[in-house]
Amino acid sequence: METWLITGGAGFIGSNLVQKILREREDVRVINLDLLTYAGNLANLPEALPSRRHVFVHGDICDQELVRSILIKFEPTRVLNLAAESHVDRSITAPEEFMNSNVLGTVRLLKECLAYRDKRPHLDFLYHQISTDEVYGSLSPGDAPFVETDRYRPSTPYAAAKAAADHFVRSFGNTYDLPYIITNGSNNYGPFQFPEKFIPLMIMNALTGRPLTLHGEGKHLRDWLHVDDHCAALIELNRTTGMAGESFNVGGSCEKSSIEVLNAVLRSLDSFGIEVQSSVMFIPDRKGNDTRYGLNSTKIGLAAKWSPKISFYDGIRSTVEWYLNNRDWLERVWPSGYSRAIDLTTSPSEVVV
Ligand code: NAD
Repeated sequence: METWLITGGAGFIGSNLVQKILREREDVRVINLDLLTYAGNLANLPEALPSRRHVFVHGDICDQELVRSILIKFEPTRVLNLAAESHVDRSITAPEEFMNSNVLGTVRLLKECLAYRDKRPHLDFLYHQISTDEVYGSLSPGDAPFVETDRYRPSTPYAAAKAAADHFVRSFGNTYDLPYIITNGSNNYGPFQFPEKFIPLMIMNALTGRPLTLHGEGKHLRDWLHVDDHCAALIELNRTTGMAGESFNVGGSCEKSSIEVLNAVLRSLDSFGIEVQSSVMFIPDRKGNDTRYGLNSTKIGLAAKWSPKISFYDGIRSTVEWYLNNRDWLERVWPSGYSRAIDLTTSPSEVVV
């Protein structure tokens, strides 16, 4: 049995990833290290908590002693770092928190992984940094989508912190030979996404009659990727360590404006018989907002035979359906539930708090 350490595994992408691994890779045990910030919640792990191949550790990636003890105790061959502050708006008001978890946390994790790997030179070890397309900055209309060799030009504190972390990861590869990969994913959507993010926020506002707020004129373009397709790519790249030293764009090849995304959400709600009373409201653009993100994902297609399987409209419809069927989850995570609302003692997986 292989052991993989996933950090941030109680967040949106992390929880989808942990549960997909447990479903599809019976040969893998998952150690899930998460600080359970406002964005992380054990309610995101209904399939994982009953599994004996899942160990949840409540803690901070900045805590080197804790990370060291986890590495020594569980001996993972893969470390996938998803732990991060992830909301651009919050990074504009509180950039220091992004320095802490996204940059310092990554550096401390890297240091511990290096010390661990150096004591086990024959270990088939890989460190995987889960990054974002936002590190590349903005495309102009007509520009070709970003490729992996494009320069990083982050525009927001969130993107700057993710870019800094990526630079540290590469530097650990170059300076100390730590085997690593970096993936730059595009905008994810799907189940268990905290409702501060665009798609669940629009669903929640539409269901509660609140205004459907769009930044600027709703024309900003983002590349949209269903979280299950993203997780499939992350799992595939970890099958071997053969791709160490490489970075990969992971996008949906699906650029849509915010207004197109909102229309797809509203059409899906309509198809489920939901009459939406809310009206669209244009609000001033977020500071530093990039106008267009787009990714060329040819490299991962060739290297790992990966391509997104879920079409945008099918993915939006199933996401809307998930939120309609999981209103109790929404109430648990928003506005007052958060992580502590879940009783840790009810979980059959090992929980280390
Ligand atoms: P999220 O905010 O939903 O989850 C982040 C998780 O990390 C939470 O469970 C939180 O409790 C945990 N966490 C935060 N700081 C921590 C710390 N110091 N120690 C341990 N745990 C900590 O974010 P997400 O959308 O799931 O994103 C996960 C990763 O993927 C992030 O690194 C993000 O930058 C990257 N990413 C996200 C997207 C997207 O569209 N959501 C796209 C590309 C890349």
